[in-house]
Amino acid sequence: MIKNMTLHSYHGKTIYLGTKHKKDRALKEQLLSLGLNCEVVEIDTDSLGTFSGEVMRIGSVQETLRMKIKLVMDKIPSANLFLASEGSFGPHPIIFFANCNQETLMFYDKALDLEILSSDITLETNLNEKNIKRNECYLKFLNDVKFPSHGLILQSGSLVVKGIDNMDYLKSTIENIFKDANVESVKIFTDMRANFNPTRMKFIGSVGQNLINKILTLCPGCNSPGFGIVKCLPGLPCRECGFATNGILFNVFQCPKCGLQEKQKRTDQVFYSDPAECDMCNP
Ligand SMILES: [Zn+2]
Ligand SMILES: [Zn+2]
Repeated sequence: MIKNMTLHSYHGKTIYLGTKHKKDRALKEQLLSLGLNCEVVEIDTDSLGTFSGEVMRIGSVQETLRMKIKLVMDKIPSANLFLASEGSFGPHPIIFFANCNQETLMFYDKALDLEILSSDITLETNLNEKNIKRNECYLKFLNDVKFPSHGLILQSGSLVVKGIDNMDYLKSTIENIFKDANVESVKIFTDMRANFNPTRMKFIGSVGQNLINKILTLCPGCNSPGFGIVKCLPGLPCRECGFATNGILFNVFQCPKCGLQEKQKRTDQVFYSDPAECDMCNP
């Protein structure tokens, strides 16, 4: 059976978060619930790739997170606990025509050489872009992308203006760009950096909470923190005929340290699939 960690293991310790975009705002409180003080370390995460595409992102999410932690480690050699975050945006992998935001957090305990990951995906994102022509109205777009509470980026040729968060600044920048008679259109897109995007910031907080829950769950084999779900298995019975459907029946937990796996029935009080999801009742 799964055990919970006593809180004092990390109590009073400091965790170092490498960020340029104030992600500590989303994570500070969750970390405090573990007794951890969060220190921000300014690192140049842009060198690992940016959303607006000036630097191409290389490596997998996990590799990028490790590189971010390495940058913090080099700056604070005495530190033991680290946290890094990485987000990506784009079309949803399964749902057509929907954009999504995936966020992944990595916790690293240097003394234990222990890496704990938490990742989740949401459809709640304002990710969007629009090409506007001279004199074209863009107010509906602004409304759709929740401007000015959410920031924007303007791009025209090699000019990129980021972090636009008020109407005057937006209007004057667009006017300035169109002063050049050769410019036919300007591209506006959503600024997805966490400090310009409260929707994203909130989601990072929720992934942070999942990470904390994972850290608090100890491996039944080696007692290491981070025993968490790595995959789900189908087989939830149909309410009508009892046939095993594609609905989730089991969660598989795995220890990030010793690799021990444990299969457990889901615990969210869902016992049956809807007959509409059943291949027998609804072929
Ligand atoms: Zn273990
Ligand atoms: Zn059925």
